[in-house]
Amino acid sequence: MITSAPIHRLPQVVADAIAAGEVIERPASVVKELVENALDAGATRIDISIEGGGLVRIAVVDDGSGIAAADLELAVERHATSKIAEASDIARVGSLGFRGEALASIAAVSDLRLTTRTAASAGAATLRIRDGVLLERGVAASAAGTQVEVHELFASAPARLRFLKSVATEAAAAVRVAADLAVSHPEVSFTCRTDGRVVVRTPGGSLRDAIRATIGTRAERELLAVDAPGAIAVSGAISSPHAHRASRSGLILIVNRRRVHNRALLAAIDESYRGLIPGGRHGFGVVCVDVAPETLDVNVHPAKREVRFSDERAVFTAVQRACWAALRAAPALGAGGEIPNAFGRRLAPDAPALGLHGLEFRDGEGVVEIVGRSEAQPYGFGTHDRGAPAVPAGSATEDGDDALARLPAMSALGQAGSGFVVATAGDSVVLVDPHAAHEKILYAELREHWSRQGSQPAGSQMLLMPVVVECGADAAARVADEHDFFSRCGFSIEQFGPSTVRCTAIPVTAAGADPDRLVAELLERLDRPGAGRDERNHRLAALVACHSAVRFGDRLDIDAQQRILDRLVATPGGTTCPHGRPSVVILSDPVLRRAFRRPAR
Ligand code: ADP
Ligand code: MG
Repeated sequence: MITSAPIHRLPQVVADAIAAGEVIERPASVVKELVENALDAGATRIDISIEGGGLVRIAVVDDGSGIAAADLELAVERHATSKIAEASDIARVGSLGFRGEALASIAAVSDLRLTTRTAASAGAATLRIRDGVLLERGVAASAAGTQVEVHELFASAPARLRFLKSVATEAAAAVRVAADLAVSHPEVSFTCRTDGRVVVRTPGGSLRDAIRATIGTRAERELLAVDAPGAIAVSGAISSPHAHRASRSGLILIVNRRRVHNRALLAAIDESYRGLIPGGRHGFGVVCVDVAPETLDVNVHPAKREVRFSDERAVFTAVQRACWAALRAAPALGAGGEIPNAFGRRLAPDAPALGLHGLEFRDGEGVVEIVGRSEAQPYGFGTHDRGAPAVPAGSATEDGDDALARLPAMSALGQAGSGFVVATAGDSVVLVDPHAAHEKILYAELREHWSRQGSQPAGSQMLLMPVVVECGADAAARVADEHDFFSRCGFSIEQFGPSTVRCTAIPVTAAGADPDRLVAELLERLDRPGAGRDERNHRLAALVACHSAVRFGDRLDIDAQQRILDRLVATPGGTTCPHGRPSVVILSDPVLRRAFRRPAR
C-alpha cells in the first residue's frame, strides 16, 4: 500500500495495543501473566476462573503481598516493574516476571479491574482500565492480596479474535497453562475453574501431590522419581518404561521454575528412554532443571516460553544422566544383572543350556529376541537362515513378508496354555500370536475399506449405551476439531462437557471391542500433533484393530485358529502387527536342527 500520509507518532494507547500482541496472544497468555504475578508476590493460594474460553472473563485472586495503593497506577504502566532496577539485573532474575509489560498489555486489550491490598494497609485500592484508558480509581474492601479481573478480552481487537480457536480450545489452553504453573509451583495451592467447574485443584504440597492432582492418580503411579542434585540439579518424576505415550506432550519441562519448551532437553529425555520403550513412543512426567540464574537467559522470548543456557551441552548431559539413572533404578529393569543395551537386546550372561531362550515379550509392546548361547550366535528366523541376526519373521519388512508367502500352507495344531497358536507349515514350526495376527488382518481391512470409500463415511454401529469419557478439557476441545475425521472412520463422538466427550457410534469392525476403553485410548492419542491424513488413518486403524482383535490369552477353537492363519496369509504387508510387533515366529527346519544338534540336511 502506498500512502502519502505524513509520519506521526502513534498515541500511547495505540502503541500499547500493538505491543500487547507480543505478550498477550490468547486468553491463556493472560492466565499465565496474572498467575506469574501472583507467584512473584509470594501467594500461597491462587484461584483462577476462566469463563467463555477466557474471552468473557478471566479472574485471578491471590493472597500475596498486594500492591501499595500509591503504586497502583504505575503497576499498569508499560515497563513499570518492582522486580528489576537496572539492565544487569536481567542477567539474574529470580522472579517470573521482570519486563513490566503484562498488566499494561492486558489493560490495553480488555476491560481490567485490579483490586489489591497490602497486609499493612487498612483498605484495598482498586482501579479499572478499559482498552488502555483509566476509567475508575478508588478504594474498596477486600482481603489482603490481589484480585485481577479481565473482561471482554480482545473485544476491541477483532484481528486478534479471528486468530483464536474455538472457545473450548482456548479454555483448554488456559487450563493447561494453569496446570503447568501448578506443577512448577507445587507448594502453592491452585484452584482453576472453567465456567464454574473445578478442573484443577492442587493441595499445595509436594511435587508428587501437584502431579497427582493434574495428571491423575493412575498416571502418577507410573512415575519414577528423578533426583540428581548438583550445580545443574535435575529432579522430578518420569514414567517408567512400561508406561509410554504416543506423543511428547505429556512431558513437562521446568527450568528454574518456569515451564519452558526446549527441543534439546526434550530430546535428552527421549534419548534416555532409548532401548527401553518402542521407537516413536515417549515418556511422560515432569523434569525440573535448576541452574544458577546467571547461566540462564530467560529474556529470549516475549512470553518467556524459551530459555537459553550458557552451556546447553552440560545441561543436556545432566538431564539425560538423571533420567537414565531413574529409569535404570526401575524394578522391572536392570534386575537380575541384565543390562538392556539396545532396544530389545539383552545380554543374558547365564542363559539356560537349551538352545532357544531369551524369548521376551515386554508388556505387549516389546520385541521378540532369540539369541544363541555360548557362541553368542543368534538363531536366524524366516526361511533363509544363515545365522543372521535374530529377527522374528516380521521385523524385516520384506523378508518377513517373503518368509510367510514362501511358506507352505499352515495348519493349526492348537494353542499353548499361554495363548500362542502352534502350527506346522511343511518342515517349519510356526508360532503365532493370535492377537497380533488378528490385529494385523483387521488393520489391513480397515485401511483398505477407508481408502476405497474415499470420503464416504465408513460403516458404523450405534451404541445402545453411549459412552461418556472424562478426558480433560484439552482433548475434549480437540474432539470438536476432529469431528469430520472421526465420522469418516465410523465414529460419532462429540464434546459433552468442558472435559468430557460422548461417543454414540463406533466402526462396525470394533463391534466386539469395549467402547469405553477404545474411546479413552483414542482420546489419549489425539494429542499427537498434526499429521497428514494418511498418517492419521494409519493411527486410527491401528487403534481400532488393536481393540477389536481377539485378545491374547483368549481361548480359540481350532477352526478359529485356522481362520486366523488363513486370513493372515491372505493379508498383504508383512507379518508385523501395526504397532511393529511381530505376529509370527517361524522356526525353520535348519533352526530346529541346530537347536537339537542334528546335522543339517
Ligand atoms: P512484571 O511482572 O514484569 O514486573 P507486570 O506488568 O506483570 O510486570 O506487573 C507490574 C508490577 O505490578 C509488578 O512488578 C508488581 O510489582 C506488581 N504486581 C502485579 N501483579 C501483582 C500481584 N498479583 N501481587 C502483587 N504485585 C503485583
Ligand atoms: Mg508480570
